[in-house]
Amino acid sequence: MTLTLEQVKSKSAKRLLGLAPVVLAAALLWIERCYTRRGVAVIITQGLRTCAEQDALYALGRTVPGDIVTNARGGESNHNFGYAIDFALLLEDGRTVSWDTLRDADIDSLPDWSEAIDEAEICGFKSGAKWRTFKDMPHLEMTFGLSTADFRAGKRPIAPQVNAVFSQLTKLKEADELSAEDKKRLDTLEAAIAELGESRDVLKKSVLEQGNTIDKVVDRVAGLERRAALPTVPVWADKAVKAAHDAGLIDMPNGGSVDLYRILTVLYRAGLLAIDEED
Ligand SMILES: [Zn+2]
Repeated sequence: MTLTLEQVKSKSAKRLLGLAPVVLAAALLWIERCYTRRGVAVIITQGLRTCAEQDALYALGRTVPGDIVTNARGGESNHNFGYAIDFALLLEDGRTVSWDTLRDADIDSLPDWSEAIDEAEICGFKSGAKWRTFKDMPHLEMTFGLSTADFRAGKRPIAPQVNAVFSQLTKLKEADELSAEDKKRLDTLEAAIAELGESRDVLKKSVLEQGNTIDKVVDRVAGLERRAALPTVPVWADKAVKAAHDAGLIDMPNGGSVDLYRILTVLYRAGLLAIDEED
């Protein structure tokens, strides 16, 4: 994608004004996740809509020429209270907007539109694409079980409901940050190992210099991936895990993740876990 995340985000900035804070937070994370995880640029085309704007929209196709685009009058849409957004796809030029729900610009055999909706649901939105009557494809909302009548009467979601969504968003964000950081560390380490080449002298020197880094990376991966712990060590990692255990890099041979075992195997094959024994 040639557009940066910042450019994509800035395109929606105006439409984010006036949204309920939790909806705003979810919308921002959603734009990010579409971009980084799916390679899909989305743009928010509608956020808060005043009741007068809603009435004007309702008139379309009824008292004003055009197609009917909504069944909601002023005060009857979640947009009127800052709890809904509409989106479209933003094309590569950063200017053109597409409502083509079958478009697959990132060529992963998944319509970009569906990918965006999947991410929106992860971020706590309900999609108008799932409504049984009058499917509203671009519409995303977060209503906490409140009807527009409730909103009109001045009711708003209670703190525990809102906080639950905020904490879910924080969790998602942390997981994204950790996996990005983690990946960077693994990439750096793998690049370093690749550079070591075949020479044992180079290997030995590097082990001394990099021992500390390797310790840290192994620690880090072990900690991060505990949630993905496997019950037993995979057969392919047996030797590497034993060597890492003997070298004091890991406390317990069991309970690691696939990633941990993979990186230990890489280290082992590069000869970085067996130097002491061989001398
Ligand atoms: Zn909408």
